[in-house]
Amino acid sequence: MEDENAFALNLALYQGADLGDYINFMMQLRSSLNALKPGEVIALESIYTVDLVEQMQQLLPNLDPRDIPTFESFAYFEPANVFHDYLEQEASKGKGAFIEAVWIVMGKPKLYNLLHRAWTEHGPQTLAPWMKLAQIVLNGCYGQKWSDSVFQLPDSCPICLTPIHWPQRTQCGHVFHTRCLSQHLDIYHTCPLCRASHTH
Ligand SMILES: [Zn+2]
Ligand SMILES: [Zn+2]
Repeated sequence: MEDENAFALNLALYQGADLGDYINFMMQLRSSLNALKPGEVIALESIYTVDLVEQMQQLLPNLDPRDIPTFESFAYFEPANVFHDYLEQEASKGKGAFIEAVWIVMGKPKLYNLLHRAWTEHGPQTLAPWMKLAQIVLNGCYGQKWSDSVFQLPDSCPICLTPIHWPQRTQCGHVFHTRCLSQHLDIYHTCPLCRASHTH
């Protein structure tokens, strides 16, 4: 899994004289991340971003804003069209499994990369601020504007018959994949199910 690969990679990449301390810290961080649960109260997206940037700046003052972990894109693209079998498989379980998968595939690996960088650039780190950052990232995963389908069992798309995670709803109330509906409307200008007239 990506989180374990990232963990191993960021151990292998480190070449400082304090390798033993680094390894100990990474192991502590890994077991803490694996035990971490989302907060009871999840802040809205905008607050998440402000908290995240502040905490990141304390740990990595030279950080490029593009390195700050965000999960927004996952709330807009179908998992099958993003890149990832595991995300697709977890998404089809519904009930929030997809969000946990995003944390494993994106959240934890990003934190290992950032820790590696902070240790290399600024020396030994302490666990508390990293776990504070991790909690913000995990809460941020859960705090995205996920469609309801992430928390339920997804419907199937009437056009391609695979699960719809981010449904596109027509005025007549039917739901399809955005891409499937759009391809259909290029040719027919009617709803694929009820033939109500419809344009893009
Ligand atoms: Zn479809
Ligand atoms: Zn319809």
